[in-house]
Amino acid sequence: MKVFKFGGASVNSVERIKNLADILEKFRGEKLLIVISAMGKTTNALEKVVNAFYEGKKEEALQLFELVKQQHLTTAKYLLVTHYLSCETQLKDFFTEAEWLIHDKPVRDFDYYYDQVVCTGELFSTSIVSHYLNERGIDNKWLDVRDIFRTDDDFRDANIDWDYTGSKVRSSIVPLFDEKDIVLTQGFIGATDENESTTLGREGSDYSASVFANMLDAESLTIWKDVEAVMNADPRQFPEAIPIHELNYDEVIEMAYYGAQVIHPKTIKPLQNKSIPLYVKCFLKPSLQGTEIHNKPVRHLPPVIVLKEKQTMLQMSSRDFSFIGEHHVGHLYSLFEKMHIKPNLTQNTAISFLCVLDDRPDKIEKLAMAASEFLDVQVTRELSLLTIRHYTKEVFENLTKGKKVLLRQQTPDTIQLLLAAQD
Ligand code: ASP
Ligand code: MG
Repeated sequence: MKVFKFGGASVNSVERIKNLADILEKFRGEKLLIVISAMGKTTNALEKVVNAFYEGKKEEALQLFELVKQQHLTTAKYLLVTHYLSCETQLKDFFTEAEWLIHDKPVRDFDYYYDQVVCTGELFSTSIVSHYLNERGIDNKWLDVRDIFRTDDDFRDANIDWDYTGSKVRSSIVPLFDEKDIVLTQGFIGATDENESTTLGREGSDYSASVFANMLDAESLTIWKDVEAVMNADPRQFPEAIPIHELNYDEVIEMAYYGAQVIHPKTIKPLQNKSIPLYVKCFLKPSLQGTEIHNKPVRHLPPVIVLKEKQTMLQMSSRDFSFIGEHHVGHLYSLFEKMHIKPNLTQNTAISFLCVLDDRPDKIEKLAMAASEFLDVQVTRELSLLTIRHYTKEVFENLTKGKKVLLRQQTPDTIQLLLAAQD
């Protein structure tokens, strides 16, 4: 069996949903577990609904929700004939679930309401796609993943209960494949043992798909995206970026660590644990090779470039020229932990400690204030952090030509450079 994941962009219009079905036609006869995200920007739209609701603006929340409803009903109308009424009935059940909540006054935490409302996006999209596939003769079984994925109640960042979920997957999903080739369900959402809906963190559908692949011992996971493959740099920043057709898990974890927007970082572990290959394929041109990610060593990788802009450097020095010792550094790291700050780069010298952070003014101000109780703090903004893995002299020189390098860190694999703003 294979697991497929289709992201929001692959179902954001009638044409794209038809395209998804065309792709599935090519896999007739294969057993597929399919995870689908909310359509296009639905998750963002639903976030606005919750914000309005929580600010006590019930009417506005209902109006915003109405827009989401109409979009989905319209898409269903364009796609469906014989299966429209059954789809409409299912959608209306989900609408009622959310509206019933919006009509109340908020009495619990924001994150709780967020999950109850935002989870509907994936329920809508999967319901429409499932009905459409059935109408086209691509027989499939729709599942509410909230009956399968059990999580804790850490709303908006829920953690999967692996034992419960694993046995549920084996007892409820595996037998479905005796009758159907395709089981279609949601990513990103789950439920607590009290049947409250939860979400796993934005962009979490990749992770859901990888958990399914692990629990089903799938032969592979394919993530269908709107890019031709994993690229060696972000093509919006570097138009000369090239596709990488083969990678291993470790490399992808490194790339994600340095800030490449490849795949949700939590996706890799469940696959790596069972050596399940991950394919990244282009839903617009399925004949393209895409990328295969596996457990074996991969030689001759091209330079992988990650450019993070809007970086801020904090330089913290002792006031009396005494050495920066472990108690200073320990203290700073406990501040990072308390404030949920993850430095992108750190460096120690005799009398100073340097860290580079994403520009989050609220957090940086708090950190600078706290650190200035025991160190002198200097803040420099508008920097960029360039990371090159598998660097060559040529690429290095090309990317740094005419740039002012403030800091440089280097290992045999990776070089990182902090660059000043260009005047
Ligand atoms: N729909 C969710 C989001 O946009 C989850 C996902 O697409 O992975 O974040
Ligand atoms: Mg998405």
